[in-house]
Amino acid sequence: MTVKPLEHLQFERLNPLEIDQVLQQNSLVYIPLGAFEWHGLHLPVGLDSLTSHGICLRAADKTGGLVMPPFYYGMSGSIWHHPHTILIEDEEIFLKILKTTLTRLETIGIKKVVIFTGHFSLKQLEALITLKKDWLSIQNSLELSIFSISDCPTVKIEADHGAIFETSVLAEIDPNLVKLENLPPIDTYPANDPDGNSKGDHRRDPNNILFGIFGDDPRHYDKLTGKVIVNKIVDWLIQSI
Ligand SMILES: [Zn+2]
Repeated sequence: MTVKPLEHLQFERLNPLEIDQVLQQNSLVYIPLGAFEWHGLHLPVGLDSLTSHGICLRAADKTGGLVMPPFYYGMSGSIWHHPHTILIEDEEIFLKILKTTLTRLETIGIKKVVIFTGHFSLKQLEALITLKKDWLSIQNSLELSIFSISDCPTVKIEADHGAIFETSVLAEIDPNLVKLENLPPIDTYPANDPDGNSKGDHRRDPNNILFGIFGDDPRHYDKLTGKVIVNKIVDWLIQSI
């Protein structure tokens, strides 16, 4: 399946002449945030960054502006110790990188930045609230908006971790990266969720079939759901900025 690469909107791939040409039309830069963490056997560890990058590119395709390369460093959550997971504990480090990026973008004359996070651990969302507050407290010419993939009001499926929501979103953005065949067949090995709770501590047990996946069984994935979710998020972003 071919996915529109939108490489001409990726800031890091452009030379100064190409950059100026795009930004003269709309002085807008998207910064996609994500994380590097276990999402189950069927998904890549960089999922949150891959999805936020893809969504920002689709939004920029409609609004104009450029998209920064996605951040793969995100703030810690309750699964920081899972395999193949690298998260930041110290909020100061995370904010320093973001503030430096904003300051430099402001210095080169960017008028508006949209931060869009595909990673929504509580610490990540709290850090972003602090960032917004800090940015507003200083005199600046760069307008900052911040959105989380978990906050889109028109998407009725709750954002999750490696489950049906995130699996569907990535399958729409980059279908080749979703390997549902890595999970055991659902008929033989159905999810074993006490009281139907798909986010309980039993999913933290490495022997659980859906280890490290929090939310409804991703093996119920269907193609249309991902398309609907991503379209709604892109529309919401465009309308909000
Ligand atoms: Zn995720």
